[in-house]
Amino acid sequence: MNAPFQSSEADMPGSARRDEKTIARALFRSMGVDGVVARTQDYETAVERLAALISRERDADAEVLRFPPVMSRKQLEKSGYLKSFPNLLGCVCALHGSEAEINGAVATFEKGGDWTASLTSADLVLSPAACYPVYPIAAERGLVPALGYVFDIAADVFRHEPSTDIDRFQSFRMREFVRIGTAEQVSAFREVWMTKAQEMARRLMLPFAVEQASDPFFGRVGQMMAVAQIQAALKFELLIPVRSAEMPTACMSFNYHKEHFGLAWDMRLASGEPAHSGCVAFGMDRLAVALFAVHGIDFRRWPGAVRQVLNM
Ligand code: AMP
Ligand code: ZN
Repeated sequence: MNAPFQSSEADMPGSARRDEKTIARALFRSMGVDGVVARTQDYETAVERLAALISRERDADAEVLRFPPVMSRKQLEKSGYLKSFPNLLGCVCALHGSEAEINGAVATFEKGGDWTASLTSADLVLSPAACYPVYPIAAERGLVPALGYVFDIAADVFRHEPSTDIDRFQSFRMREFVRIGTAEQVSAFREVWMTKAQEMARRLMLPFAVEQASDPFFGRVGQMMAVAQIQAALKFELLIPVRSAEMPTACMSFNYHKEHFGLAWDMRLASGEPAHSGCVAFGMDRLAVALFAVHGIDFRRWPGAVRQVLNM
């Protein structure tokens, strides 16, 4: 991809992209599974300051909700997730049997056997994105008010995409602003946030490009869904050259769902039409990794302007 990055590589302080191993060693500790890491104090400081910056930028009337890392399996099924990304989903399992059956599973483990065969799925999944639980909450309230809704939400999310890349985790933090209302309200919101997000990246002195994108829909039918998504310009991403300029990393996304969730949850406007929705998603861990990759592994030596924006 020849992304027209807004500040050239030559502008990037120091050696532009420090080698991945050096970054990983400075920021993370291995937890024995690809894409699942313990985070160091300096890294968490960057994530916290980024979160505070995003909070300062949010709409004054946004309703704040923080979700746990799990959500209702039924709700995710009803959202249509299995049609799009079944391969990425993580489902919570437990030993649901009687005391004897549970003891049997433990005994199997102690004999070196496969105790996991005794697991059955619980009514929970690991949330694959922060925004899925917000639509049933909004729909519960009845007709969407004339001004619509703006939510500020966040969750630790899970996607089953193990990788050793420093910008692809299985467990990562997602912050989102979600707009629910008319098509016009949602489109206007997305426009505003695409501009605000670029301004934020500029203030953080991160080289970036905004491009149209598609979600990684599963399988051959998924390829058609991706083409349709591009044709309707439903997704844009803010890309930052974290590992390379050729394969820049999506650090934020700007999504328009049309009436998908309005129909799934029978969430209606006063006109009786299904509500539209859209979301702006900040990949908190990717944004933090991008800051360290671009400005260096010691945030005390980042450009003064960047530290000022982040209050660090
Ligand atoms: P998406 O719903 O795919 O647009 O994801 C929203 C944001 O989450 C993306 O823009 C990324 O910043 C971030 N993200 C997605 N997948 C991953 C991953 N595997 N590891 C870290 N961040 C991710
Ligand atoms: Zn979302």
